[in-house]
Amino acid sequence: MAAYGLSKRYGSVSAVDGVDLRVEPGAVHGLIGLNGAGKTTLLRMLLGLVRPDLGEIAFFGEKPSPAAGLDGVAGYVEEPRFYPYLSGRQTLALFAALDGGDAPRVDELLALVGLDRKAADRRVGGYSTGMRQRLGLATALLGRPRLLLLDEPTTGLDPTGASELRTAVRGLAEDGVAVLMSSHDMGAVSDICSAVTILASGRVVWDGSMERLRAEAPAAEYRLETSDDAKALALSASHPGVRARADGASGLVVAAERDALDGFVLALAAEGIAVRRLAEVASSVEAMFLALTGGSTP
Ligand code: ATP
Repeated sequence: MAAYGLSKRYGSVSAVDGVDLRVEPGAVHGLIGLNGAGKTTLLRMLLGLVRPDLGEIAFFGEKPSPAAGLDGVAGYVEEPRFYPYLSGRQTLALFAALDGGDAPRVDELLALVGLDRKAADRRVGGYSTGMRQRLGLATALLGRPRLLLLDEPTTGLDPTGASELRTAVRGLAEDGVAVLMSSHDMGAVSDICSAVTILASGRVVWDGSMERLRAEAPAAEYRLETSDDAKALALSASHPGVRARADGASGLVVAAERDALDGFVLALAAEGIAVRRLAEVASSVEAMFLALTGGSTP
């Protein structure tokens, strides 16, 4: 899939501004940005739900035509919505019938997205957000898409559910499906993405392989609390690999590679400064994302 110069304005807001994007088969491509960065608008344009003001889209080397529709492309934006009075299984069977697809895949897909028999037979109206996300993915997969567009698919999932969904997405990519997946949380998707496009205010601020992002990313950031933060801050100045700053009334934020951090912690102890808390607040790739988008650590 490729997009060139995609742009969309809403009044004075430039929601998406000249975005180029390439998603390769077998890739899990992250579309990452803070709230309002333009992720959903971009996915809407790709899914044909919103007309771009400018730009071109090509799926599998061809411009999407009204006649062919979005053959081989599936996905959803925001939250997938369904008839509340049908069960998950009935919903999938209905979509399979509408698509002229095969009903036997219903059980296979329910298992793939982790909706067990009991959940599948409940009315969708009573589903949690996470269960609707799972059903959304199952419906998207009915037509065996070659390109899957997912908008924040782990929203509403508990950590186990999110991890199961990531495993399912990775499995699809291993089978050759191209996956474009939006997220506002770099840390949550960095493990499964092979490439990322980072958006800020509708524009691409970084694009490339996850490998390159890792190589270019700065040191991880940690929150450090000690028995004497002022002295610890002064001591950091004599450790070249350590950058520290005061963080609120007490505590420091320290950016350092692991070896430099180890050396600093040992130096604190040698100076009689006790470490009371040391916790990572932003991994190296998260720190890169925050620096590019102007976000702040939680
Ligand atoms: P989030 O993570 O909060 O969903 P996002 O990255 O998906 O954000 P978009 O929903 O694409 O961002 O919004 C991008 C910008 O475009 C925002 O400023 C938003 O207010 C604006 N916008 C999006 N859709 C519309 C619309 N239909 N009418 C007016 N403004 C819109």
